[in-house]
Amino acid sequence: MITGKKVLLGNSKRKKPVTSKNEEIQNRTSKVSTSKHEPAKVDHARIEKAVREILIAVGEDPDREGLLETPARVARMYAEIFSGLHKDPRIHLKRVFTENYDEIVLVRDIEFHSMCEHHLLPFTGKAHVGYLPNGKVVGLSKLARVVDEVARRPQVQERMTETIANMVEQELGARGVVVLIESSHSCMTMRGIRKSGASCTTSAMRGIFRENLSSRAEILGLILNQNR
Ligand SMILES: [Zn+2]
Repeated sequence: MITGKKVLLGNSKRKKPVTSKNEEIQNRTSKVSTSKHEPAKVDHARIEKAVREILIAVGEDPDREGLLETPARVARMYAEIFSGLHKDPRIHLKRVFTENYDEIVLVRDIEFHSMCEHHLLPFTGKAHVGYLPNGKVVGLSKLARVVDEVARRPQVQERMTETIANMVEQELGARGVVVLIESSHSCMTMRGIRKSGASCTTSAMRGIFRENLSSRAEILGLILNQNR
C-alpha cells in the first residue's frame, strides 16, 4: 500500500523561437544529409519545394498572393514541430537528486502537441506521468520536457506513451512508472469518420504499477478522479 502520495500539477510552456529576417534567408539554404543513418538537420528548401508541389497538385496556384509565403512558412513550422527528431529527451532525466522520498510522484495535465505520422495532422492532449522513486528523483519540469520533445516528432500515440515510460523507468531506475495520455486526433475529427469530441487514451505501466493491482488502481485513481 502506498500512502502519503504527492500530486503535482504540470504545465508545459514553450517559448516561440524568434527568427530574424536574415536567419530566415539563411535557413532556406539547402543542407542535404550525406548519411542515411544520421538524421539530417531540417532542410527548409526541400520542404518549400515539396509544399509548392502539393499546392500545385491539389489544383492551387502557388504564385497567387496569399500563397507566396506559404511554403517558407510551412518549412519553419515543420522545423519547429519536428524539432524533437534532433534531440535526445533522456538528457533531461540525467540530472537526478538522491532523496529518501519513496512515495508516488505524479505530474498531471502536461499539455502536448504532436503530429500523427499516418496523416501528418496534429493530435493534442494531456499526458500524465507518475513514478515511484527508488532513491532518485528528477526535477518536475523535466518530465514535461521529456513529453514535449517526444511529442515533437512524427508520432503515434501508442509509441509516444511507451517511449516516455521506458525513458523514465530506465533513467530513474524507478520502482514503478505510469504514463497515461489522453488526446484528440485531427485525423479522426476533420477527415475520415469525422467524429469530433472522440478522445483516445493510452497507458503504459512499468514495475509495481504493472505487477500490483492495488498500486495500479491507486495511481489511476489519482490521475483520473481529480478535478473531474
Ligand atoms: Zn492519423
